[in-house]
Amino acid sequence: MPGPIDYSLMKVDPDPDTREWWAATKEKKLLVRQCSQCGHKFFPPYPACPGCTAMDLGWFETSGKGVIYSYNVAVHPILAPFIGTVPYVTAVIELPDCSNPDGSLTRIVGILMDDEDAVAIGLPVEVVFEESTEAEYVMPRWRISGTAENTWKFQG
Ligand SMILES: [Zn+2]
Repeated sequence: MPGPIDYSLMKVDPDPDTREWWAATKEKKLLVRQCSQCGHKFFPPYPACPGCTAMDLGWFETSGKGVIYSYNVAVHPILAPFIGTVPYVTAVIELPDCSNPDGSLTRIVGILMDDEDAVAIGLPVEVVFEESTEAEYVMPRWRISGTAENTWKFQG
């Protein structure tokens, strides 16, 4: 299992695009941006829709369930809060309840709580809201939530 993230070394300073998102994590809700014009769902929350450039945006509350679309393993900490965390898995997670007008599914990036040995493309995951006494925010993390018939992983 990856080591803990040192939240005492991580400062989060929400801006107008992320303020509501961080507030929602405290209520254990995972949001993605949703365009009010075309319905496209995306994250991170850019100030304009990447699908149609509209700036009339809202939020969509996801179920917090996804599928690993891709992943990599961080073995060298780039930021100080992760010195004791490595090695850990960062995954691109596809959200089945976030379908878009073009038929695509929204994908977001998340840090898994599982070891690399347990991770494979195609496995289901669920969000976990990690609270810390050293942080004023709640960090969404992800963990494997089941099995799947068709998975794939690199066998190095
Ligand atoms: Zn749009």
